[in-house]
Amino acid sequence: MSTPVIAAAAPAAPALEAIRELVGPKGWIDDPVDLEPHLVEERGRFRGRCLAVVRPADTAEVAAVVRHCAAALIPLVPQGGNTGLVGGGVPDGGIVLSTARLNRIRALDPADRTITVEAGMILADVQAAAEQAGLLFPLSLAAEGSCRIGGNLATNAGGVTVVRYGNARDLVLGLEVVLPDGRIWNGLRALRKDNTGYDLKQLFLGSEGTLGIITAAVLKLFPRPRATATALVAVPSPAAAIALLARVQDRCGDVLTAFELMGRLAVLFCCRHLAGIVDPFEAPHPWYVLIHLTSPRAGDPLTETLEVVLGEALESDIVTDAVIAQNQGQAAAMWRLREGIPEAQKPEGGSIKNDVSVPVSRVPEFLALATGAVEAAMPGIRVVAFGHVGDGNIHFNLSQPEAADRDAFLAEWDRFDRLVADVATGLGGSFSAEHGIGRLKRADMRRYKDPVALDMMRAIKHTLDPVGIMNPGKVVVDA
Ligand SMILES: Cc1cc2nc3c(=O)[nH]c(=O)nc-3n(C[C@H](O)[C@H](O)[C@H](O)COP(=O)(O)OP(=O)(O)OC[C@H]3O[C@@H](n4cnc5c(N)ncnc54)[C@H](O)[C@@H]3O)c2cc1C
Repeated sequence: MSTPVIAAAAPAAPALEAIRELVGPKGWIDDPVDLEPHLVEERGRFRGRCLAVVRPADTAEVAAVVRHCAAALIPLVPQGGNTGLVGGGVPDGGIVLSTARLNRIRALDPADRTITVEAGMILADVQAAAEQAGLLFPLSLAAEGSCRIGGNLATNAGGVTVVRYGNARDLVLGLEVVLPDGRIWNGLRALRKDNTGYDLKQLFLGSEGTLGIITAAVLKLFPRPRATATALVAVPSPAAAIALLARVQDRCGDVLTAFELMGRLAVLFCCRHLAGIVDPFEAPHPWYVLIHLTSPRAGDPLTETLEVVLGEALESDIVTDAVIAQNQGQAAAMWRLREGIPEAQKPEGGSIKNDVSVPVSRVPEFLALATGAVEAAMPGIRVVAFGHVGDGNIHFNLSQPEAADRDAFLAEWDRFDRLVADVATGLGGSFSAEHGIGRLKRADMRRYKDPVALDMMRAIKHTLDPVGIMNPGKVVVDA
């Protein structure tokens, strides 16, 4: 079975006119200047085109727009904050459906520990609403000020707290979705147990807008942290970092909230290019780890626990040096170092990004093999490896050799993508850990994904979206 293809059709003018009337002036954008931010993606790798951006005000309007599009075979691309990194939200014709106006909290239930939100809420606003209620919504990533929760769920976003709370899909109890034929599926249930057949919400989590438009979600809330401790640790090798991870997990249990690895070059670039960042230790070290502990128990002696664990690790040479933040400012500076890496890479020229995962135990092997492979392929290439190593997720970014031509280097993206993905998948890993497939990784789907899995994905796509209007050309590949 092949992926359904949009019948090549001239845009159905009457349907577009009906949609324009339906959503009104606040919900319709067709001015080229205003369309522009919806046509490009964060890293500038893809540039799209579309007839208009529609911004429905509620779920009923989303459903009506989808019904018009289905009848006239107009492709639809859902868009949240457009911070995705694989081109999934970039349109290639048709219309973009922005969730920006679906931004209400429908319910917050402290007893059930849930919040029901519309898909267009900015992630940081969801976090803030939970905090105001004395609770925590733990999904956290550097784009949280602009990405929207529907986008987070559609991409099954990861971020820095996965080691403790899981990926976005682990934080969802229920969904409301507009299907490609315009029907509304009300799966907004707040149940922790519901063994009544297929878990349909999981289909839409991580589907990147190819199966329907998520319009609302019931999300899990957690106790708010009342004690925290943050440390920056120098380690001699990735193997030492993994040994340290096991020790921290054994000693600290579920208070371990983030465990992030950074290579020396990543730290050096931050010191070079980010205001206010200085080398964290007197001497340079090959690898660094940022450890963040949080506990809902006020007065939990997290700093003391970290001191003990790190002291023991120093004695057994797993750790070379360590500093524990003494206040919020110092902790924020440590996080700034970690989160500033992509920004600090920019002045160093072209950068080829990779987001792969391997079983945690194989991270050292991955780093050694992948570094060897890319350095052999291009002498002088600079490996900027960092990431959520607590979940085996490495952003294995590559900066161009110092004197290289930026465009010529970036033209090599696919070759290096393959070299790195070959190593990751060869170690039982994934070619896309948390950013998804979008347009960028479709060739990798063919190369690495199990053919039976691809067949099942095509069958699901065909069943839910037989005419192929929903985000065509993304994720699902033809037979
Ligand atoms: C600085 C920076 C840091 C980042 N860090 C991380 C990180 O740590 N972890 C991580 O996982 N990602 C990260 N990302 C990637 C990105 O932020 C996430 O993928 C985010 O979840 C996308 O949300 P969005 O609202 O911007 O979605 P968009 O970019 O608008 O859309 C992404 C995909 O989801 C689909 N979509 C959007 N909304 C809906 C909806 N309501 N229903 C159905 N489909 C929809 C789109 O069609 C598209 O395919 C980062 C990005 C940046 C720029």
